[in-house]
Amino acid sequence: MGNTDVPLLELKDIVKNFGETKVLKGINLTINENEFVTLLGPSGCGKTTTLRIIGGFEQPTSGSVMFQGKDITSLPPYKRSTNTVFQSYALFPHLDVYDNIAFGIRLIKDAFPNVHEPKRPEPPFDDKKMAKLRAKKPSELTEDETEALEDYDDSLKSYNKAMSKYKVEYDKTIGNVNVNRLTFKEKVRRFFNPHPKKRGFMEYEIEEKVAAVIKLVNLTGMEHRNVSHLSGGQRQRVAIARAIVLRPKLLLLDESLSALDLKLRKEMQYELKELQKTTGITFVFVTHDQEEALTMSDKIVVMKDGYIEQVGTAEEIYNDPTDKYVANFIGDSNILKGQIVDSHHVEFDGKTFLCDDIKFPIGSTVDVMLRPEDLDIVYPSKGKLLGTVDSIFFKGVFYEVDVKLENQRIITIHTTDYIPVDKEVGVTFDTEDITLMEVMD
Ligand code: ATP
Repeated sequence: MGNTDVPLLELKDIVKNFGETKVLKGINLTINENEFVTLLGPSGCGKTTTLRIIGGFEQPTSGSVMFQGKDITSLPPYKRSTNTVFQSYALFPHLDVYDNIAFGIRLIKDAFPNVHEPKRPEPPFDDKKMAKLRAKKPSELTEDETEALEDYDDSLKSYNKAMSKYKVEYDKTIGNVNVNRLTFKEKVRRFFNPHPKKRGFMEYEIEEKVAAVIKLVNLTGMEHRNVSHLSGGQRQRVAIARAIVLRPKLLLLDESLSALDLKLRKEMQYELKELQKTTGITFVFVTHDQEEALTMSDKIVVMKDGYIEQVGTAEEIYNDPTDKYVANFIGDSNILKGQIVDSHHVEFDGKTFLCDDIKFPIGSTVDVMLRPEDLDIVYPSKGKLLGTVDSIFFKGVFYEVDVKLENQRIITIHTTDYIPVDKEVGVTFDTEDITLMEVMD
């Protein structure tokens, strides 16, 4: 178990320049154990570069990457407790599902690096001299020789005792293999080297591990299919299985669902979230798709132009975006210019509205956000804002209605009622639906 006070991963003041181009301009981010974190932002904002720095595929120009409190900035990818699912999946086309997943495990030579190997006892030395003494008749031995032989026998006895204890300890750790399930090749290897200091996984151990992840990613029955005959979604599952089979602490996924069609993508979003919960592995997922981020994440990191703009839960980012950029990136929104009247009132659209919890100075200009789904169309006499319907589109679950306000500004409302174009309407909302945001530069 990790120390709960120390985050799993920390990025500290990460700057990355490619030549003259500043791609990351000071990234500070904390990622905890068992979290689903999404890096969200438009193309080119630096998401993939951040992910590659976490994975060790890219070195930051300055700043550090800390893993469980240790600086791993200069560690190569294979020495980190991370694994990556690339956008291209990078599967081996000539291998089947099973062998693709098992490939990396078979390369491991030291499968139990963190297991404490028991200390092997030192054998009593001077065997040759003792053998010569033992060859003599007891009557020929001097007193000193008899004593030496007795001492030697005692130490041999305690050595044998320590050795059998060592064997038990050894078998509890790296030596513990099911001999009946070893392949012939493994048996031969074991015969010549019964106590290797390091060992890889035996075929039957690999089989158990692969079978467990195949079940986890719903590919049971497809073990021996060639990966080039699989659908996009199935290939995606193989790539994920291959990445999680050795239980990395951190799984990095780069736009992993972007190659799938919409329906499959939605299914996989749900499955990925489930998989994260079941395995307890921390997932860091890169996407430019806000819906994907909202559906899956415990923590969303909104990036813009090499900076982190906001970090929060899906609800926090959606309901309380720090500025217009985040508000527009996550969900649909109406953003109006407003002015703070006093600590409980804000003015926009020529009217003053009651507003809770105003944190801005009196007289300052703010961006006022009203989400389309928080607005209602009512009779003009009951509306807080007045206008006429400019357009209406059916969106499947709701109508998207654009209302042109008295000052000609368009405001969008999501409603289940059909309202004809050109009809005069009122628009209303609750006090708590007004979100005030800092005006961006
Ligand atoms: P996308 O969603 O399009 O992949 P992103 O947010 O992941 O975008 P990055 O791939 O991190 O963005 O790229 C950020 C910027 O860094 C881009 O302008 C890109 O062109 C540039 N960049 C990335 N890798 C390199 C490189 N190896 N050499 C030069 N410029 C690079």
